[in-house]
Amino acid sequence: MGTDVYGKNPTDAVGEHFHRSKWGWDPLCYMCDDLFPELAARVEVGGYARHNDGYGLNAVDSEALADALNEAVADGRVAAWVAERDETLASLPKDDCPICDSTGIRTDDLAIQAGQHDKALSPEQAAVSGREFGWCNGCDGRGWKEPYETWFSVEVNDATEFTRFLRACGGFETRSTREHRDGQWGLRRKPTLAGYQRYRRVQMALTGPKALLVYFTIYLYLKLVWLN
Ligand SMILES: [Zn+2]
Repeated sequence: MGTDVYGKNPTDAVGEHFHRSKWGWDPLCYMCDDLFPELAARVEVGGYARHNDGYGLNAVDSEALADALNEAVADGRVAAWVAERDETLASLPKDDCPICDSTGIRTDDLAIQAGQHDKALSPEQAAVSGREFGWCNGCDGRGWKEPYETWFSVEVNDATEFTRFLRACGGFETRSTREHRDGQWGLRRKPTLAGYQRYRRVQMALTGPKALLVYFTIYLYLKLVWLN
């Protein structure tokens, strides 16, 4: 799963395609929303196509966004935005670990069988948890997990790369990676004609006239020869 952005009229190879995973695409969109709200509003419905429904920008607005983004990278607004985001993420409360009840040590039967309850910790893990033994695979023995928001990440480089794409795409629209494969997925999921014929062959082999003849022969054999 991810977002693929396709150039509508690329002038260069770099303008043909831009890809980010969901974790990378969303924060890049938020960055553009925050820094260039007037351009963001031009992407039809939903701001920068966060939901993979084929939104995009025309050639003129793509160029304008490339200029705006380029300027913001140059004067440090992008770096400041990224730094502020990172700071906010670092200050978020940690999530509980439901697997060990936030103790950092798993003591359920499976974990005890696997030796997690008295596993020796590495020096780094011990420094964080303040003990030397007892681990949980859900939280690496810490008793807490990084909050969901930290799964998403964006850096200044992402903005620079996106700028290069925007400059050469001639307008763009988004499609999800999955949508790209949908034809194949659809075919695989529907029963194919060959699959149906295979099924019918097996069915006929078990219930067709030949099969009935075989069953009857066995019946006769049992009745006439074996049972007497
Ligand atoms: Zn845990």
